[in-house]
This record gives sequence, C-alpha cells and structure tokens, in this order.
Amino acid sequence: MTKADGMLTRRKIRLEQVELDDPRDNEVLVRISSCGICGTDRGAIHGLEPYPTPGVLGHEGCGIVEAVGREVTAWKPGDRVMIGFAYCGYCRSCRRGQHRYCENGAKLNFSGYRMDGSSGMKRRNGEAVAGRFFQQSSWATHALAVENQLARVPDGLDLDTTGPYGCSISTGAGTILNELRPEPGSSLAVFGAGNVGLAAIMAAQLSGVTRIIAVDKDRKRLALAKELGATDTLVHGAGTVLEIKDLVGDKLNYSVEATDGENLVSEAVAALGVLGTCAMVGGAAATEFVKVNHPDFLLHGKRLIGVVGGGGQTPMFLEALMDLQLQGRFPVEKLMKTYDFADIDKAIDDSDDGRTIKPILKMNG
Ligand SMILES: [Zn+2]
Ligand SMILES: [Zn+2]
Repeated sequence: MTKADGMLTRRKIRLEQVELDDPRDNEVLVRISSCGICGTDRGAIHGLEPYPTPGVLGHEGCGIVEAVGREVTAWKPGDRVMIGFAYCGYCRSCRRGQHRYCENGAKLNFSGYRMDGSSGMKRRNGEAVAGRFFQQSSWATHALAVENQLARVPDGLDLDTTGPYGCSISTGAGTILNELRPEPGSSLAVFGAGNVGLAAIMAAQLSGVTRIIAVDKDRKRLALAKELGATDTLVHGAGTVLEIKDLVGDKLNYSVEATDGENLVSEAVAALGVLGTCAMVGGAAATEFVKVNHPDFLLHGKRLIGVVGGGGQTPMFLEALMDLQLQGRFPVEKLMKTYDFADIDKAIDDSDDGRTIKPILKMNG
C-alpha cells in the first residue's frame, strides 16, 4: 500500500510517498488522524538524539484502526485509538508492570526498526526507511503499531486531543500519580510549565496536593499554570529557591524538574525540605551534569529520582487520563494548537521557540 509520510533529513522535513507492509500477526494498521510534536522528535531533528535517515518520526499518534493482524483480538477496524510507547512485554521490567523501563525499550523506541531489524516501510525504489520510531512513526497518514501499545479513546472525547497521551502528557501526569504519589496536604514545585510540567500540575490538582508552585521564565505559561491548578507561580530567576522557601518554609515535599534543556535539577533539589523527593524528568542535553550542594542533597533524607515517561504508563493509565479529560477534570486540550501536516516545519519552529506548547499535526479528517 502506498502512503504519504513526513521524511526526515536533519532539520528539513520532506513529505514523500512511501510504502507500508500489511500488519504482521500482532500489529494494527492505524489511519492517523493527528500526531503531536514532542521534545524527543525535536531532539532527533536537531541531532541531539540519534535516529537513522531516511526515517519517519512522530510518537504521539492517534487515529482509527484500519486493519489488524491475524492474531489481534482486542482491536477491530473502526476502533478509535491512541498509540502509546512501545514495550516488549516479556523482559524483567515488563513482567514487573514497569513497561516504561522495558529493557528492550531503547531498541523498540529509538532504533527505527522492529526487534528483528525489519521496518515494514520502504521507498518506492525499495530502500528501507526507519519507519518504527516508538514502533509507530506517526508523522504519516498511516502507521503500523503493535497491538499492546494501543489505548482506547472513550466515546465523546475529541480524538485529536489524545495523541500526546503517548508521551509528554502521560510523562507529566505519571510522574505525579505513578511515581511521587504525593499525600494529601503535601507541597510540590514544578520547574518548567511546558506540556510535561503543566500535565504534572493538572495531575497534582487531582491528587490532594494543597500547594502547587509553578516555576517558569514565561509569564504567559505561568498564567496558564494557574488556570490549570497551580496555587502559586514564580518567574524563574536567581532567587527562585529562596522564594519557594518563603512560600512553604523549608518543608517542600516534592519537586519536578521538567524543563526542556535547561538543567535546574540542583535548584529543584535545593528547594526541598527534609525527606523531600525530586523527580528529574526534563530533557537536558546528554552532556549535562547534575550539580548538587552536599548538605542540600545527601543529608536530610532527600531523594533524587529519574523518571522516564511517567513510570507505569500502562494502557489502563492512559485510558484513565482520557476519562478524566472527558469529565473536564484534566483539560489537556488547553495546551494544544493544531497545524496542517504540510505546515510541519512551522509547527516545529513554533515549538522550538516556545510559541506553541503542544503542536498537533493534522493528517486526516
Ligand atoms: Zn520489556
Ligand atoms: Zn515524547
């Protein structure tokens, strides 16, 4: 079958017709309705993360099931689905229910190919294309995905708001609800009010946290953070840690570092009170080092944990978040702006310079 896909050559994106195989026994062909643009896509475009070319990016796809492999029983043509990240299902982490820490995750999500080295996507001249980014490559009109990575979109919810549950939104929400699990009455500071940080704030509001402090350099984003549940907002500057202590004393229970490239982990740790926990989520460059002052970090029972993708991102968790959105309790649509697929370069630029928090590329009506 012949499909139109967004081809990647460094910063330049080209739309090109390529061919997808039919789904394998455990795979599903999804007609992509829309797909988000996430920091990991941009990292690959800017050469910060390796991804082979020619290749197709996109890992926040959603759409309608068009065909299913012979052994697929959970899905049928016409089902509305969003595509989560890929996991093998049989490694130690997967067997413990920690799919986000799948031992085969690096290969499944970033190699551009299946575990056996095949892609299922090729150019018309037969050249293989790295068409399995997160086992979906959804900057495309159609994508092959594995049946176990799909989640069902509830009736009544706008399908085109659900793709980012595959990565950025579940990353922020899962950091709070799966990893930190704050007790009612606790306090939280979120560094970075982008799509991950704002999702963390919305989730915190559902958790019984009574003090939610949003920190960002952009006042517009802080205003949105307030609308979504932050009780306090701070414009980031040299005095941020002291300002947090002015608000909650030396008692901050939790902090989340969710900035995109700016490593504020040391501040997020320094802001914590005794026995506080900092979750490091943001996408600082691989060359960055975390610097922490000794008394701030090693003493007083503080903990620093790394969180990938919000931890336990099971399809059930994704479906729970979508139910909350449908009920108006998790208004993730407020972060989004839709672009035509052909305007992909503009959407990436708008995301790079912070004009748009969550761009959504629209592929099919
Ligand atoms: Zn696994
Ligand atoms: Zn992502």
